[in-house]
Amino acid sequence: MTGFSDVYCHVCRRAHPREDMRLVISNGRKKWRCIHSLQKAAKATLAEREAFGRQVTEMNKAESRAKLNGMMANRALPPLE
Ligand SMILES: [Zn+2]
Repeated sequence: MTGFSDVYCHVCRRAHPREDMRLVISNGRKKWRCIHSLQKAAKATLAEREAFGRQVTEMNKAESRAKLNGMMANRALPPLE
């Protein structure tokens, strides 16, 4: 009885029940992937995007801080004689 309706998952390299599987097209080829791996991939993409967003925010902050420091440094320079 077991294993009859299982579908091989190319991500986990093992078979899952048919109801957990989704047929996805990758590079023009049809591949079976389980919903678990799809959810994991979606979460990973989201985490990557969040990490990237944070990085950009930090870069912008650092840049404006550097600009501000530069402005203050210019103001602090002694007048030229
Ligand atoms: Zn799987």
